[in-house]
Amino acid sequence: MLSALPIAGGSAACGVAAMAWAVRGRASSVFGPSAWRGPRERRALALTFDDGPSESTPRILEILARHGVPATFFPCGANVERLPAIARAAAEAGHEFGNHGYSHPLCCFRLPRFIEADMARAQQVILEHTGARPVWFRAPYGVRWFGMRRAQQRLGLRGVMWSAMGYDWKLGAEAIVERTAGRAQNGAILCLHDGRELRREPEIGNTIEAVRRLVPLLLERGYKLETVSQLLCPTT
Ligand SMILES: [Zn+2]
Repeated sequence: MLSALPIAGGSAACGVAAMAWAVRGRASSVFGPSAWRGPRERRALALTFDDGPSESTPRILEILARHGVPATFFPCGANVERLPAIARAAAEAGHEFGNHGYSHPLCCFRLPRFIEADMARAQQVILEHTGARPVWFRAPYGVRWFGMRRAQQRLGLRGVMWSAMGYDWKLGAEAIVERTAGRAQNGAILCLHDGRELRREPEIGNTIEAVRRLVPLLLERGYKLETVSQLLCPTT
C-alpha cells in the first residue's frame, strides 16, 4: 500500500508529508476510492451535514423544507440510535444518508477490523432506523487509514470528502457563510455539521443561522442543491 504513495525523493520529511496527504488530503484515494467534488459542467452543488442527528437537526430540516432543497447527512451511528425519530424524519423528507462511522473514531493507528466493525455498525443502524442504505462514506475527521479500502468494498461504500469545509464548530454564522458561499462553485460539496461528534444537545446555533442565510444565497446565485448521489451520479 505504501508503495503507492507519491513519494518523490527519499527524504523522511517528504515521506511524512506524503503520508499526511494520503491520510488527510481531500483528493487522496490511497486508502480507498474517494471523491471530493462533482462535475464542473452543471450549476449544482451539494450541502452536507456531518455528526448528527442532534436535538437541533429538526431546525435545519425546517430550513431545507422551506426552500424545498435536499441535503446529505453523514450521521454518527450512535446518534442515530439515540435520536432515531429525527433520523427517520430526515430520511422521510427525502434527504440522503451517508456513513460517518458509528462512534466517530479517529481511525489512524486503529486496526482494520476495528475500522470495518465501526463502519458496519453505522451502516446497520442507519438502515434499521431510516430504511436507507448509505453508499457514501465520509471518514471521521477526514482521516483515512489502512483497512478502509476493504471495508468500503465489503460494505458497498465509496469515499466522499468535501470541496469546502465550513469550520462551523468554531466560526460565527457570518464567517461560516462567507467561507462556504465564497467557495461555492459548480460541483462543490459543502461540509457543515448538525451535531458535534457524539455530544448530547450540542450548541449548533451558528450552523443553523448560517444555513438560514446560505441556502437562499446559493439559490439566488442560480445553484441547484442536490444530494451527493445526484451531484456525483446524475441520471438526467
Ligand atoms: Zn465528523
